[in-house]
Amino acid sequence: MLMFPGWLKESLRLVPLPCKSVFWSTRSLILSARHPPFPHSFLSPQKTLGSDFSSLSFNKQFNASIHSLLALSPSLLCSPSFWKESLFSAPCLSSSFSQSASLFKSSHSCKSMDLSNVLEVLEQLAPLSLAEPWDNVGLLVEPSKAHLVKTVLLTNDLTVPVMEEAEQMNCDLIVSYHPPLFRPIKRLVQRDWKQRLAIRAVEAGIAIYSPHTALDSVNGGVNDWLIGGVGSGNVSVLSQALSSSPLIHKVEFTVKNQEELDIIRAELRETAVNLQYTTSRSDSDGHNVCFTCPDSKLATAVQTLSQYATSTKSLTILQVNKPPLPGCGQGRRSTLNEPISIATAVQRIKVHLGLNHVRLALGAQHSLESQVTTVAVCAGSGGSVLQGVKADLFITGEMSHHEVLDAVAAGTSVILSDHSNSERGFLSVLKDRMAVHLPDSVSVKLSQKDRDPLEII
Ligand SMILES: [Zn+2]
Repeated sequence: MLMFPGWLKESLRLVPLPCKSVFWSTRSLILSARHPPFPHSFLSPQKTLGSDFSSLSFNKQFNASIHSLLALSPSLLCSPSFWKESLFSAPCLSSSFSQSASLFKSSHSCKSMDLSNVLEVLEQLAPLSLAEPWDNVGLLVEPSKAHLVKTVLLTNDLTVPVMEEAEQMNCDLIVSYHPPLFRPIKRLVQRDWKQRLAIRAVEAGIAIYSPHTALDSVNGGVNDWLIGGVGSGNVSVLSQALSSSPLIHKVEFTVKNQEELDIIRAELRETAVNLQYTTSRSDSDGHNVCFTCPDSKLATAVQTLSQYATSTKSLTILQVNKPPLPGCGQGRRSTLNEPISIATAVQRIKVHLGLNHVRLALGAQHSLESQVTTVAVCAGSGGSVLQGVKADLFITGEMSHHEVLDAVAAGTSVILSDHSNSERGFLSVLKDRMAVHLPDSVSVKLSQKDRDPLEII
């Protein structure tokens, strides 16, 4: 049973939701976060602090914990001011912890950063390997002049008013959540508004970067933020992300004897297939051989083995699954800790997204007072990710008429916020996380001109 001293309760009030934050006691380190951006296996759920916090604790040695924590995900520390005001002022702060924190800041306290360093930070916060295969993420516009980044502008969409804003503030880098360039371009001309923006960015020396579905997928990203708005619960991923490691196959076959195995090994080595293998004796005096082979070398390996009758007859090829990345992927589903009415869910999501209105479709047999236990979300356009998902309530930006009808018929209510309204609020979380990693000389600003083009009047 953990004891929470006065200073810890005091610290809790310093934490703006839904930022991640870290506290400690002399015996354990306590993380307070709705969706911790690091592997769940590292933590164990322990205690709920009030209705808005889920608390998790490390039961490891204090020093080991904080070093691992910093190495794993410094981004969970919501802002530099949080470090200074909350952690450094606590009475039982250990000196090693203080040193770790100073080291962390000092490594980022250089005077300025060039574009590649800023991009490294962005890719650390949302690895591009998490993006969907159809997406167009990463650096989209790179001006020719090498430049130091002093001002970064965050926007959901890069529109003409946002570009004007960027130019006026002498912005060096626009981070546009949606990629402003998506389809392949055969020419850069003034006829198309997106091409005009790209040309304008190059002429003004402004780089453009888009994290899009990588930021949706990452643990603690847009979808985790979205589902956090409806209340705390047990969150799972709807479409699990897998490791980006290359596809490999497990190849098994039998050889007559050691001599044949040695010949096959030599032949495979010549074709650059390195036979890291295990063998075991079979009943028929042969050897069973098993090795793993990258996808790019499989055809060559099979061609070599097909020259030998015993191995051809016994050949088995299994595709090795890529390991899942815990907490990463598209869409989220939550089983709420406490069921809420649909009316409460609507109210909470309006507050979370900063909206006066959302659209609601009540599921079959539902009323505003119906209780919601399971909620599924997908930031943006959720029709395909949410299709067939069992939940009492869907929350997304937009769905087609027929997708809404399907959900309603299946007994699922639907809240639609309009596309970018389900995404934009996360930019302030991203801004805080970037501030932790970037030196003070880099100013990160939220666009004041970015808005959903639709409004309910
Ligand atoms: Zn979107």
